[in-house]
Amino acid sequence: MGWAIGYDTRLRRDVGYGVPAICDDPECAEEIDRGLAHVCGGAPFGGDCGCGLHFCGKHLWHGEDAQVCRRCLGEQEAFTPKPDTPEWMRCKLEHPTWAEWRAAEPEEVARIRAALAEAPACA
Ligand SMILES: [Zn+2]
Ligand SMILES: [Zn+2]
Repeated sequence: MGWAIGYDTRLRRDVGYGVPAICDDPECAEEIDRGLAHVCGGAPFGGDCGCGLHFCGKHLWHGEDAQVCRRCLGEQEAFTPKPDTPEWMRCKLEHPTWAEWRAAEPEEVARIRAALAEAPACA
């Protein structure tokens, strides 16, 4: 299964290989996408054994059943999800394909605008 853009209702963020992101490991700044190749658990939203966060190749361990991050590998609490990239937030605010979503989700639009206002200008 593969899709360009989906929505993780548990983590409340966009997922899919069409979504640019930063590795969710707090010590990492690798640019990835939120496709299945990067998801902890190896299945949409993390499947049965992952947290559903997204990591670069250096921060996913490939076990017998699935790929998982180091927190899930050690059965620890998941990392705090990183915010969406400014690039992605701007896309949602400006791109025509998101017009319908913007009309339906005014609160989310306001939240993203506020988050973008706080983002460093040179990010
Ligand atoms: Zn995990
Ligand atoms: Zn990483």
